[in-house]
Amino acid sequence: MHSIISRIVSVRQRIKTAAEKAGRSERDIVLLAVSKTRSHMAINEAFEARVHAFGENYVQEAIEKIDRLKEKSIIWHFIGALQTNKTRIIADRFDWVHSVDRMKIAQRLNNHRDPAQRRLNICLQVNIDNEASKAGLSTTTVGDAVKQVLELPHIRLRGLMAIPAPRDNESAQRSVFARVRTLQEEINSGLDNSQKLDTLSMGMSADLEAAIQEGATVVRIGTDIFGPRERRAE
Ligand SMILES: *Cc1c(COP(=O)(O)O)cnc(C)c1O
Repeated sequence: MHSIISRIVSVRQRIKTAAEKAGRSERDIVLLAVSKTRSHMAINEAFEARVHAFGENYVQEAIEKIDRLKEKSIIWHFIGALQTNKTRIIADRFDWVHSVDRMKIAQRLNNHRDPAQRRLNICLQVNIDNEASKAGLSTTTVGDAVKQVLELPHIRLRGLMAIPAPRDNESAQRSVFARVRTLQEEINSGLDNSQKLDTLSMGMSADLEAAIQEGATVVRIGTDIFGPRERRAE
């Protein structure tokens, strides 16, 4: 049995090795622990190992954990499918949303964000492999969405998020992540310095090395921190 702490040590080592190979600093890469389906105790264990950012996919489950852990200085990231009737609570309780895939959601998050809070950090999800089964903006529409989101006063647009289809070798993984990076570079070339996107949310347990090689600044790791997930009962 591996403990959460020992798994975190090895994930951090993988991040460090990949960063060094890419000539980057590990400090420029955020380890986002994906805690969907995990208990607040498991989150607390990871927190004790100095993981401070957690990603959740299901609103109700997330809110229970956020309430239980409210004394801890945790940064909560929403990374799941977004429904319009959940935007109010997400805008209220999360610091980041990675999975914004349509303007309507961005507008609603903006409208519901309390102006007294810091701006809500968001990433636009890009459907980089054009999969019918997956959420995300197409590579051809993301540029327009960026311009519109930049107008929203209570949102801080940070970058792009992608979940590519699985590939079994590192060079194939790298080439799809490189497309996300290039897309972000193209977008940035049209933006003022103050607006430039600084976040690339890409890389999971199976492909974090390839993502870091291609510029990921946030890797979203579930299984390799908490162990295999049980199937979620719907
Ligand atoms: C579940 C999930 C992850 C984590 O995946 P693992 O393969 O368990 O590391 C990352 N990103 C998103 C959007 C997820 O839903």
